[in-house]
Amino acid sequence: MANLNDYTSLRVGGPAKNFVEVSTESEIVAAIEAAGDAPILIIGGGSNLLISDAGFEGTVIHIANNHIESEIDACSGATLTIGAGENWDDFVASTIARGFAGLETLSGIPGTVGAAPIQNIGAYGHEVSEFITRVRTYDRQAKAIKTFTNSECEFEYRNSIFKRTPGRYIVLSVQFQIRSGEISTPITYAELATKLGIAVGEKAPVLATRAAVLELRAAKGMLLNEDDQDSWSAGSFFTNPIISQEVAATLPHDAPRWPLEDGRVKTSAAWLIQNSGIEKGHSHGGARISSKHVLALTNSGDATAEELVQLAREVRIAVEAKFAITLEPEVNLVGLSL
Ligand SMILES: Cc1cc2nc3c(=O)[nH]c(=O)nc-3n(C[C@H](O)[C@H](O)[C@H](O)COP(=O)(O)OP(=O)(O)OC[C@H]3O[C@@H](n4cnc5c(N)ncnc54)[C@H](O)[C@@H]3O)c2cc1C
Repeated sequence: MANLNDYTSLRVGGPAKNFVEVSTESEIVAAIEAAGDAPILIIGGGSNLLISDAGFEGTVIHIANNHIESEIDACSGATLTIGAGENWDDFVASTIARGFAGLETLSGIPGTVGAAPIQNIGAYGHEVSEFITRVRTYDRQAKAIKTFTNSECEFEYRNSIFKRTPGRYIVLSVQFQIRSGEISTPITYAELATKLGIAVGEKAPVLATRAAVLELRAAKGMLLNEDDQDSWSAGSFFTNPIISQEVAATLPHDAPRWPLEDGRVKTSAAWLIQNSGIEKGHSHGGARISSKHVLALTNSGDATAEELVQLAREVRIAVEAKFAITLEPEVNLVGLSL
């Protein structure tokens, strides 16, 4: 019997009733069809999952190990179709090695290509939705293949149609459009610009940008690393809250405020946590706030899923009490709720 703690970066999760490992598109579809109407849980890299200690009473489908399926080269760039099980950062590294630009700020994000569109992964000023042209899925409701164009994916900050309809669409492959070039797009993220020694809005060599992003991520425990227990996490546990201008006006003047096109304002979950009295390293049983980044809840070695949930609740209650803002989990909870 497979224990799901072996398949998640938080290293928690009980047993799976049924467990199948698949890699090709036809294997994925066969496994879904074999499960019939029973509950299924798709696991890629397991880096955005908090699974209950009781495990999963259904079929777990672990998608791993597949590669570039097709590519169309043009002198200005390429259209690459990548299988869902390919490791995200291996893919990013391969595009850079081949002289393509665009994905460099998304370097070092753990997980698979198939999971990237689910929450529209993003970091250092860019989101994967900027580069996705199509997402090929299996629609469990229609029992048929369905391909989404970029606009049909309804991408938003850490959200998409796939995340909003959990379990319905299984991503089989993702098509990306990337350009040829050795110079990054303008660096909009101040911390990264400083690291690169440039002003916000300037460009930098793609390779240097990747190296700088990897260094910044390692310093925050945001790169998976066996030896760094601060990275035994699911990355940011909560999303950055999107609030109205009225609510934003109630925050202290030094709270980060990023205006959005629709008039609302995004603020920083990390700032809210830090300023509500929760400190780095604070723990509950084996669950611990990272010593490098308050937004990451980690497993200090022997945490249970229940302890992680209790710590997450504690953080949420502290922020609510201080700022009247409810943090929403970015992590996918399985068999658990906050
Ligand atoms: C140290 C660390 C740093 C991180 N930093 C970032 C960051 O900077 N930015 C960011 O956006 N995220 C970040 N994350 C979160 C995580 O890396 C991403 O969400 C990633 O896309 C998850 O990929 P995965 O393959 O591990 O997905 P999993 O954890 O296996 O799955 C996540 C969700 O997607 C579903 N899913 C997975 N594959 C498929 C598929 N093929 N079809 C349908 N559903 C599927 C699962 O059922 C689950 O609901 C970080 C995580 C860690 C541990």
